[in-house]
Amino acid sequence: MSLPNSVIEADVLIAGAGPAGCSAALALNGSGLSVVLVDKATFPRTKVCGDSVPAHALISLEPFSHGIYDDFLEELPKVSFRSSVMILPNGNRFEFSWPLPGYVTERRLFDDFLLQRVARQTSTKVYAGYRIIDYQRVEGGVLVKTRSVDGVAGTDFLARRSLVPTGRLRWYRGSLADSRRTRRWWVMP
Ligand SMILES: Cc1cc2nc3c(=O)[nH]c(=O)nc-3n(C[C@H](O)[C@H](O)[C@H](O)COP(=O)(O)OP(=O)(O)OC[C@H]3O[C@@H](n4cnc5c(N)ncnc54)[C@H](O)[C@@H]3O)c2cc1C
Repeated sequence: MSLPNSVIEADVLIAGAGPAGCSAALALNGSGLSVVLVDKATFPRTKVCGDSVPAHALISLEPFSHGIYDDFLEELPKVSFRSSVMILPNGNRFEFSWPLPGYVTERRLFDDFLLQRVARQTSTKVYAGYRIIDYQRVEGGVLVKTRSVDGVAGTDFLARRSLVPTGRLRWYRGSLADSRRTRRWWVMP
């Protein structure tokens, strides 16, 4: 097939700049690979969530983004907790405590905090406001088609690898018949 004229090339395209996509971008830092991170939203963006962030999620990112836990504590408004209560529809009530603290913070702010770290600390090129509308396998990788959210312009990406580290882009990962699933990451060769 013939390629469109204007195509941005990268070693890896990450689809979705939520916590999973940003974690992937931070983890790929220093790999020597050129990475693009594409999201349909412009940030900060809202996300339906209970807004709880467990400390171990931040600690697990420390090897890829040194000081992230301290910066989170310093920069984001939050309420910390050490225990939770679960009340079932039948009225049964369970109370349990956590070995490490958890924090309630707005996802709008937390996700933007992560994306800013990606932009500041890595060479990842962030394309926010670009909705992935289609992809095709081509020689040498995957051609991913996007459209800007205002619908005016389209940008295409040719990536040797495409990562879908999210539960949200089901139509995309669901059709990657021969992709490999590693936990919640879909890697399309
Ligand atoms: C009601 C509710 C409450 C929850 N409460 C909690 C909680 O308290 N604590 C907790 O840890 N987890 C909670 N979760 C789960 C948590 O929200 C998810 O696990 C987390 O958001 C997953 O992160 P992600 O990066 O995979 O996906 P997301 O955060 O959903 O990010 C996916 C990204 O992909 C982008 N995207 C989607 N389609 C396209 C497209 N076509 N093109 C380009 N970009 C696209 C979106 O704009 C988005 O930014 C809750 C979930 C729900 C629904």
